[in-house]
Amino acid sequence: MKDTNKHQGLRNQLVKQLEDKGITDKNVLEAISKVPRHLFLDSSFENFAYQDKAFPIGADQTISQPFTVAFQTQLLDIKKGDKVLEIGTGSGYQTAVLCLLGASVYTIERQNKLFKKAQLLLPKLGYNPKKFVFGDGYKGLPDAAPFDNIIVTAGAPFIPQPLMAQLKIGGRLVIPVGENEQIMTLLVRKNEKQFEKQEFGDFKFVPLLENKN
Ligand code: SAH
Repeated sequence: MKDTNKHQGLRNQLVKQLEDKGITDKNVLEAISKVPRHLFLDSSFENFAYQDKAFPIGADQTISQPFTVAFQTQLLDIKKGDKVLEIGTGSGYQTAVLCLLGASVYTIERQNKLFKKAQLLLPKLGYNPKKFVFGDGYKGLPDAAPFDNIIVTAGAPFIPQPLMAQLKIGGRLVIPVGENEQIMTLLVRKNEKQFEKQEFGDFKFVPLLENKN
């Protein structure tokens, strides 16, 4: 599959929809207008790739809905050069958006098939995360901590303590919390001990799974 003017046109329409749904961050909208989402999906989804919907990516997982990607990324408030930890690489689409915003991205995935696929695909498309990790996101990445931003792209039954511990002072953790439905939650680290919490409505994610391997 290639990226064509037709795909660019569909992306421009998608960006308009996201603006209508309340996304205001120009950098986020620009990144979404650039990342070829159809190349992160199986070719059978090519005609649907720019609908604002989640789609299967194999291993019982889904690529997040563009609105969700935009909403979470907007909450992260990425500055160029920020060190960002992403839990749940999945297709790598969200990873590409973070790379385009100038973040230095560390991304963790627990499904081997998806991990390998994203590790091949992203550099081929010109997106180069700092590190791909095959492992359990509940633990974060203590060796590379602390992070400016942490994003979890699967539904977490609770906020994993290691992720809070690996956030810089002033850093932001964006995580959907809940079992069947999730409340989008933003934690901003105020100091060593205190976190300010804000909640932003209901979303639906595949679950953040504990490592049973
Ligand atoms: N950002 C991805 C979303 C994929 S869905 C995209 O847009 O494509 C969530 C992903 O989280 C899945 O790939 C799933 O395998 C992964 N995941 C679930 N539990 C995890 C864990 N404990 N550690 C790391 N990844 C996990």
